[in-house]
Amino acid sequence: MNHETDPRELGEFLPPGEELPDPDERIERNPQEWARILPPDTYRVLREEATERPGSSELNHEKRRGLFVCAGCGAALFTSATKYESGSGWPSFYAPIEGALGTSTDHKLMVPRTEYHCRRCGGHQGHVFDDGPAPTGLRFCNNGLALRFVPADPE
Ligand SMILES: [Zn+2]
Repeated sequence: MNHETDPRELGEFLPPGEELPDPDERIERNPQEWARILPPDTYRVLREEATERPGSSELNHEKRRGLFVCAGCGAALFTSATKYESGSGWPSFYAPIEGALGTSTDHKLMVPRTEYHCRRCGGHQGHVFDDGPAPTGLRFCNNGLALRFVPADPE
């Protein structure tokens, strides 16, 4: 069974009036354009696959209902319903929104890892490991800098 979130069922995670960008659109910018619109630390994660220091993201403690969207292009990547406390120091999820991510194999370390990125803009998000909780057994280990949280109930 597929435990990815059906993109047609995001209504309960969306604030009133919020519109999501078209997930099938593709955003292409050159490095200079990205560097102009992103803060330097966010640029290094999204466009150069840097990894932020563990425990540094305030999104580790984010427990409200809502959506985690790409910090580069605003595409919805994860819902709060799939977030869990992994103890890793990075925001962690057990399943993405269906069709939101693309993957590749990263050979930066001795053991190859599966890198994943926003399918809409290609921005690097994190790595997926097979030590996550039920129902998927997957751990999407995400850089907080690569995400923006949109609460379903704005204060
Ligand atoms: Zn994106």
